[in-house]
Amino acid sequence: MRILLVEDDRLLGDGLKAGLAGAGFRVEWVRDGEAALAALEAEHFTALVLDLGLPRRDGLSVLASLRAGGNGIPVLVLTARDQVADKIRGLDLGADDYMIKPFDLDELAARLRALLRRAAGRAEARLIHGDLVLDPAARVVTLQGGVVSLTSREFDLLRVLLEAAGRVLSRRVLEEQLYAWGDELDSNALEVHVHHLRRKLGSDLIRTVRGVGYRVDEVSR
Ligand code: CA
Repeated sequence: MRILLVEDDRLLGDGLKAGLAGAGFRVEWVRDGEAALAALEAEHFTALVLDLGLPRRDGLSVLASLRAGGNGIPVLVLTARDQVADKIRGLDLGADDYMIKPFDLDELAARLRALLRRAAGRAEARLIHGDLVLDPAARVVTLQGGVVSLTSREFDLLRVLLEAAGRVLSRRVLEEQLYAWGDELDSNALEVHVHHLRRKLGSDLIRTVRGVGYRVDEVSR
């Protein structure tokens, strides 16, 4: 899950980026409102963590511009304690949740997971695919009840594929989801991860759609 973090405070941004990465999110961090809009225009993100007091263009203006343009990305707003009026305005403008600074990082991660679940229309936190169960909070995958050992990248790739079960995901979308800006990207890294997942979970789970990408079949729950 790729998160765009918009925060101009360097210390807080550093902490948030590291903390959310530790909770299993891929985080891109920009420091002003204009950069946020540019990033959202250029790339796909699963959610936005948006500070309100920002240089160049404030958070409320970013949010208003996004929603006016029909962008429904889940947004969690960060506000200072003395910005209650802004918080209310943010919710009116289409923010999905908010947290007041200073806040607990674990709570922020939990709220983001809940937000992404709601956005995906799921009440069940775990992703269940036949005998395969992926728990995003615990970062555990089980197959027929036994825990399967996956690398962090393999886990994230599997989660993205399971969340989109029934749809084909292109190489580009998968790579964007998996890698942070500036990461070294080996041209066949995706294939290698898919190969490993097939070896660990069975060869027929992840289907190759020639010339397009990969797909996991939809299963009735
Ligand atoms: Ca700020």
